[in-house]
Amino acid sequence: MKKVFIETYGCQMNVYDTDIVKSVLGSNGYELTESTDDADIVLLNTCSVRENANRKVHNRIHNIRHQNKKRDDLKIGILGCMATNFRKQLLKDPKLPIDFIAGPDSYKRLPQLIEEVNGSVDTENNFDVTLSEFETYSDIYPSQTGGINAWIAVMRGCDNFCTFCVVPYTRGRERSRSPQNVVDEAKRLADKGYRQITLLGQNVNSYNHEGATFAELLDKVSEVSGIERIRFTSPHPKDFPRPLLKLISDNPKVCKQIHLPLQAGNTRVLEMMNRTYSKQEYLDLVDEIRELYPNMALSTDIIVGFPTESDAEFEETVEVMEKVEYDSAFIFKYSERPQTIAKRKFPDDVPEPVKTERIVRLNKIQKQHSYQKNLAHVGEVQEILLEQDTTKRSDQECQGRNDANKIVILPKGDYHKGQFVMAEITDASPHTLRGKVVEVLQK
Ligand code: SF4
Repeated sequence: MKKVFIETYGCQMNVYDTDIVKSVLGSNGYELTESTDDADIVLLNTCSVRENANRKVHNRIHNIRHQNKKRDDLKIGILGCMATNFRKQLLKDPKLPIDFIAGPDSYKRLPQLIEEVNGSVDTENNFDVTLSEFETYSDIYPSQTGGINAWIAVMRGCDNFCTFCVVPYTRGRERSRSPQNVVDEAKRLADKGYRQITLLGQNVNSYNHEGATFAELLDKVSEVSGIERIRFTSPHPKDFPRPLLKLISDNPKVCKQIHLPLQAGNTRVLEMMNRTYSKQEYLDLVDEIRELYPNMALSTDIIVGFPTESDAEFEETVEVMEKVEYDSAFIFKYSERPQTIAKRKFPDDVPEPVKTERIVRLNKIQKQHSYQKNLAHVGEVQEILLEQDTTKRSDQECQGRNDANKIVILPKGDYHKGQFVMAEITDASPHTLRGKVVEVLQK
């Protein structure tokens, strides 16, 4: 049996895809190995969202080749978004010793591609980066093993073409799996002991299968017995119709936590990003969410230093953060990406030191907000889903998450991962809560 080593970079969709790849190769007689030393094939499932993601992969390829310089038969394959984004360069670059590439829609062809590679000397044609309008891998169950939270990709691709983003070029057009297919996977995962499901998509709330909406899908998945919590990521602010907000607020199994990528606070910059909403429309959506469910936890994504973003326009991002007070935020410097509209149309003219100044400022603001939000939980009794029976720091502590997806550290006791407990929150830091268990729930 040929041994395969797989390494995954980037987003949760890539982690999910790696489980798809493991399933495809596993059912074609390949064996997984945890080390490159005894692997016949090394697969790197790559990310292309920022320049440093690419650099990491280049260095890793050279390091693997160096570690295995006596092994000419070792085959290296590139999967994921670098495959579709850099196909030509990857295979033609003599300094990059790889053997084949496969894009995110070509994983069913991997066994065949690997066979072809073993027989061929000319690597330049060893690729399949076809972007499919139909492929959702709905007939492949990812090999997710052992855990409390399971991911289900309910749709693939993205049609939004935000000008800074490569995803529409690396993952193609939007397509959704049928609700029944998603529910069947949720049932299978519940049988395997998973208690929480996170529905996944590049633009999850534009899910649409023959008219079935994301709200309908959420509702159906919430009927699966054994699954007690449902989360979803990543949504787009433009796709939050009221019925979806009502369902999130009213359905006890749907967690009261929404990731709401803002990207920038100024409307002119949002237009350049092709985000399709204005600052005011975004703030109105936040108000609508909080009118329906005042304690909804909100997190976001922000890019600082998008081309031509002025100091005054950046101040509007600060203003939105101060108004919304997110529970957490992922903040990035603008990184020019090949193929994107922004690269073609807008000069990357915000100086690096200015980008650094802005990201440092926003991270400081966010740390304060996260800390204030967490301090407000002290004294509350919250429902926690235990995820680990020990923590990185101590085997006398265990760890779980509350409904807002915040980490809660608890003293070890007569309860274990997979169980729900009620805990009184006793302490807080910007990133973590601490508590003591007051009741073990029988659900
Ligand atoms: S919504 Fe925009 S940022 Fe998100 S994946 Fe699609 S194009 Fe990229």
